[in-house]
Amino acid sequence: MARLGSSRHEGVECETPHVSHEAAAHALGTCRVCANGELVFSVVRSDQRLIIECLECLTGYLVPTDLATSQVIRLEGTESRFATAREVMDAGMANLLAL
Ligand SMILES: [Zn+2]
Repeated sequence: MARLGSSRHEGVECETPHVSHEAAAHALGTCRVCANGELVFSVVRSDQRLIIECLECLTGYLVPTDLATSQVIRLEGTESRFATAREVMDAGMANLLAL
């Protein structure tokens, strides 16, 4: 009958945001390699370059503004992190953000 603990505790846990995916800035466009991958903005650690990467096939596009003709790189072995929406806007590519 006597239940210890409080149900409020669960509510607190729920407020923890999902950091990894929520933080990614999604990009408009279609991956020309796999055609159905999710596109996000990333920053390459070595040169701080802003690229678009496909989460499906791990293709990196060096020219976010033109996926059709952009040089591409393989992201395996490339250190990168998700770019924030602010970084994308600062780079003048706000029009490519998928909101
Ligand atoms: Zn792809």
